[in-house]
Amino acid sequence: MERIWSKVAKAGADECWPWTHGKTLAGYGQTTVNGEKRLAHRLAWELAVGPIPAGLCILHRCDNPPCCNPAHLFLGTKKDNAADAIAKGRPFGRPRQTHCNRGHEFTEENTFRLSGKGGGGTRCCRTCRYQMQRDKYHRRKNP
Ligand SMILES: [Zn+2]
Ligand SMILES: [Zn+2]
Repeated sequence: MERIWSKVAKAGADECWPWTHGKTLAGYGQTTVNGEKRLAHRLAWELAVGPIPAGLCILHRCDNPPCCNPAHLFLGTKKDNAADAIAKGRPFGRPRQTHCNRGHEFTEENTFRLSGKGGGGTRCCRTCRYQMQRDKYHRRKNP
């Protein structure tokens, strides 16, 4: 099992150590140990730290799936994994937006919904709309 380090591009202690051999569709390093397909970062954890408690996942602090640097890995549950994915904006689901793209808060007063076809209840920011209309007005006035 120690051989797995020969398939890892070890770098500095703080850097990512990408797996250099086979990968899963999701981009995780994968290898076969005793005829069993195993995820490389889980093997790296087992070698560097110890056995992984049943039901727990090995998550990446660096969000780099092929990375096998034990310093970038941490133990978590599947639930943590999903929460972590949401926090990092991965497509497990998105938290409800609390601010518009320009950082205005979606308060009751500052929010309106697009209605009709295409709009489908999308939330929009009144501050932005106001600013956009004002900009248009100024542009018309001073081309
Ligand atoms: Zn990393
Ligand atoms: Zn806004």
